[in-house]
Parts: sequence; C-alpha cells; structure tokens
Amino acid sequence: MTGPRDCDVIIVGGGPAGSTLAWRLVRAGLDVVVIDKKTFPRDKVCAGWVTPAVVDALALDLDAYRRGRVLQEIRAFRISMLEGPEVRTRHDAVVSYGIRRCEFDHYLLERSGAALEPGETVRDLERKGGRWVVNDRLRAPLLVGAGGHFCPVARRLGADLGGSERVVAAQEVEFPMDERQRAACTIRGDTPELFFCRDLQGYAWVFRKGDFLNIGLGREDNHRLAEHVAAFVEFLQARGRIPVDLPGRFKGHAYLLHTHAGREVLGEGALLIGDAAGLAYPRSGEGIRPAVESALLAADTILEAGGDYGPGRLDAYARRLQERFGRRADGRPANPLMPPGIRTRIGERLLGTHWFARRVVVDRWFLHQHEPPLATVREA
Ligand SMILES: Cc1cc2nc3c(=O)[nH]c(=O)nc-3n(C[C@H](O)[C@H](O)[C@H](O)COP(=O)(O)OP(=O)(O)OC[C@H]3O[C@@H](n4cnc5c(N)ncnc54)[C@H](O)[C@@H]3O)c2cc1C
Repeated sequence: MTGPRDCDVIIVGGGPAGSTLAWRLVRAGLDVVVIDKKTFPRDKVCAGWVTPAVVDALALDLDAYRRGRVLQEIRAFRISMLEGPEVRTRHDAVVSYGIRRCEFDHYLLERSGAALEPGETVRDLERKGGRWVVNDRLRAPLLVGAGGHFCPVARRLGADLGGSERVVAAQEVEFPMDERQRAACTIRGDTPELFFCRDLQGYAWVFRKGDFLNIGLGREDNHRLAEHVAAFVEFLQARGRIPVDLPGRFKGHAYLLHTHAGREVLGEGALLIGDAAGLAYPRSGEGIRPAVESALLAADTILEAGGDYGPGRLDAYARRLQERFGRRADGRPANPLMPPGIRTRIGERLLGTHWFARRVVVDRWFLHQHEPPLATVREA
C-alpha cells in the first residue's frame, strides 16, 4: 500500500488567496499542492469587483485575461441611500474592473502552476511527526488554510465557525441576460450602483458586467436578509431598472470584516490567508484584495523560513498582517451612541453630497486609494 504523497506545502482552497500563494511559491521552486472541494471552474458568491491594486499585485496581463473572459471596465458610480437622493461620480481613468469569479478564480489557479487536487473535500487534518497529513492522501511540513470563511484549517486552529463570530451576511445573483432582458435593463456596465441601507447596516448593489447582471445586498446584521433583498429587487423593478424576470435564486454567503475578526492566524506549521483569516475591508466588504495581499505576505514569510516552520518561524506573518491591515478584533459597532433615526438623517444628507460620495465613499471606502500598493520582500 502506498502512503500519502509528500510535498512542501499543502494549500486548502483554490480561491484568490490560495492560488496567489501557490503562484508565488511555485515560482520560487517549492512543490505545492492545492486541494479544493470543488472542481474548477466553480462559482463563488461575489459581486466580482476588483480594484487596480489587485491587478498590480497579481501582475495580471489584462489583454491576455480579457480574451474569452468578461472584463468590465468601471469609470463611474451612482451612490445613494435607498429611497434617497443620488450622486453620480465620473473618473478620468478606469478605477476598477468587473470579473466573473468562475472565470477569474479558474484563470489564477491554472496560472499558479501548482499540482491540483480538485473535487476533494478536506475532512481529516492530522499532525504526525512534525508534519501535516490531509485526508490520509497528502503530507507536508506546512499547511495553509485558504478555504474561505468555513475553512477546515481555521476550525482546526480554533475558529468558532458559525458560532460567536460577528459576520457580514450577503446574498447575490448573477445571470446572463437574453436580448429581451438586456433591452429591459437600464444599468450601465461602466457604472456600478450602490444603495446604502437606511439603517447604515449594509448596502446593496447592481452591477452589469457585459451581458451579465449581478445584484446583491450585504449586511452586518443578518436578520431578515432575504426580506431586505426582496425589497431591493422590488425597488429596482418598480423604477424599470432591471428585467422583471430574474432567473435563478439568490445565493448567500458569510464573511468576516477584518475589524470584527479575532481568528488566530498561526498554528504549528500552519497559517491562514484570505477569508479563512477574516480579512475583508470594513465599509466595502472587499475581500479579494486582502486575500491576494495576505497570500503575498505569507509567501514572504514562508520563503524566509526556508523549510523550517518550527516555533516562532512564521510569526513574521502575523506582524506583517497587522502592519498592513491594522489591529484586529477592535470592532466597535458603528455610531454606537447615535439613535438610528438621527444616523439615517445624517447618512442621507452626507451621501447626498458630491464631495462625500466621491472622496469618502468611492475613493476611500471602495477604492482604498489611500492604501499604497503592497511592497513585498521577495519578488519571485
Ligand atoms: C455576496 C458577496 C459579494 C462579494 N463581492 C466582492 C467583490 O465584489 N469584491 C471583492 O473584493 N470581494 C467581494 N466579496 C468577498 C470575496 O468574495 C472574498 O473575500 C474572497 O472570495 C476571499 O477569497 P479566498 O480565496 O480567501 O476564499 P474563497 O474565494 O472563498 O475560496 C475558498 C476555496 O476553498 C474551498 N474550500 C472550502 N472548504 C473546503 C474544504 N473543506 N475542503 C476543500 N476545499 C474547501 C472552496 O471550494 C473555495 O474554492 C464578496 C463576498 C460576498 C459574500
């Protein structure tokens, strides 16, 4: 009988975090296996909006990427509080891109050059003789959890999955529009529309990517999420913005904002990246950039460790995360002392001013233009 296959690093999860780390480590000469419960291309509940920082960090060749895939350039936004006045912003350059996650994640995973174990759910994680053994099939001195919010490695490192964590819950639908639906849709591809909930606990969006339409809503308070989503769809339909027939059902998913997450990111010969570590930006919920950047910070640490992942050898990763994303688990609720009615009135007034919508909501909250590109230690 043959034993488990040996490799240098096992990465659980082939989303943007896992594939980015695999790409960097494979280029540095490590034997990396990525294991994912799904077979790619697979879908992921997501609006599919990526900022230019992601394109830079991944050194994406946009001309190569757009061949046969959706790459929607974004140059403007429409911002409002639901039922409130709207502000339109316009930008001189392309400020973001719309991608389809089934295409984007597949492209990155194939490009990584790692050995892939698709369609394999990680059920069993054992620590034996200073190495990790996964599902009795793979063995390595280093295990990386990149399995998203419900990552089994995060659970193994002590995360209370589905328990006490304060999550953002979101629902989304994405579908190709037929000719009749395209004619009934007044959403412009280069102009995503954002609608803040009146209690400021979340926001909804409608985003057209080529002939695909993506509609969704996410909230920090997940009570009656489906009702919020249904009301939003009705709101858009009543204004003749989207087709009256939406095929497919809304799909839900949860994730952690960095300021709310308290997950331990390091274990014995193990670390977490991306949503498994709970890194999404507060305000926008953007998680792809933190997933990619945490993977690059992990790659620096892993390559510096030079194959010895004993006590203290991975600590630099936690420090780098903190330097990049700030302190964690200090998640005070927004405006705790302000009565909801006043919060709504102030929010509506601010969101209705061009300066606030452009400089704060778009530039700061959604584009993170104040964050410089990530400087990694080792360029592979
Ligand atoms: C509705 C919604 C909209 C969003 N919109 C945006 C957006 O527009 N832009 C943005 O930047 N972020 C957005 N996000 C956040 C973003 O989707 C995540 O932050 C991002 O996908 C994190 O990437 P990841 O690689 O860490 O995890 P994931 O992309 O979740 O990948 C994890 C992988 O692990 C695999 N896996 C899980 N469990 C196991 C297991 N037991 N065994 C094997 N494999 C396993 C999964 O199959 C999956 O392929 C959105 C999130 C939601 C819910």
